[in-house]
Amino acid sequence: ATTAPMLEIRDLNAWYGESHVLHGVNLDVAEGEVVTLLGRNGAGKTTTLKSIIGIIGKRTGSIRFQGEETVSMSSRAIARLGIGYVPEERGIFSSLSVEENLMLPPQVRPGGMTVEQIFELFPNIKERLTSQGTKLSGGEQQMLAIARILRTGAKFLLLDEPTEGLAPVIIEQIGRTIARLKREGFTIILVEQNFRFAQTVADRHYLVEQGRVVDMIPNAELDQNIDKLHAHLGV
Ligand code: ATP
Repeated sequence: ATTAPMLEIRDLNAWYGESHVLHGVNLDVAEGEVVTLLGRNGAGKTTTLKSIIGIIGKRTGSIRFQGEETVSMSSRAIARLGIGYVPEERGIFSSLSVEENLMLPPQVRPGGMTVEQIFELFPNIKERLTSQGTKLSGGEQQMLAIARILRTGAKFLLLDEPTEGLAPVIIEQIGRTIARLKREGFTIILVEQNFRFAQTVADRHYLVEQGRVVDMIPNAELDQNIDKLHAHLGV
């Protein structure tokens, strides 16, 4: 590739208080790619996403987004560049309706999806518009959490374990959604424990271990690296 990556992370270190959890993460994501972070519990995948969106107290190194250094920027300023974060816990407000949850995040960039486009992508959301957030199934909550970010105009998405705890049929639906977003030009970093799912949606995989990226595997080479994966992910 001759063009600069959309996101370029170099020697990223991050801390929770005194606890140093990222120790020099390096990774690149090109525009339009779907890239996963694979690794065991506690490897530092979530912390990497939180560092990119700027919700880790202390981080050092370089995180360049579209050429702009963001490592010292506030999370609001980073969001305004068009980066959207869907946390593992999804963040659906139980006291609000589906519609209120959907409308909650402010638009950060022009070109966010309209409500009609969101209904087309997630028909369930339209049906459940007046339900309370927590009356939704886990899968519906995950879809709502993604839909909400698409409204904001973010074009670079950070998805933390969107398939966690969901039934296979819902996981397939999320896989189709990610594939569709990729076709529409979104760029995605996906944290996953389920590498079989990761294989169905991603272009490349970064293996994260003890706060570092220890390997990168192109998706086409994932099958021949199963032993390596098992060693890194545990069984
Ligand atoms: P998981 O799937 O469990 O979220 P992960 O790879 O995303 O795994 P992180 O959540 O990034 O891992 O955690 C990396 C390290 O940071 C772990 O050792 C974890 O215990 C620690 N850690 C995570 N959150 C905090 C926090 N709020 N305060 C202190 N330490 C934390």
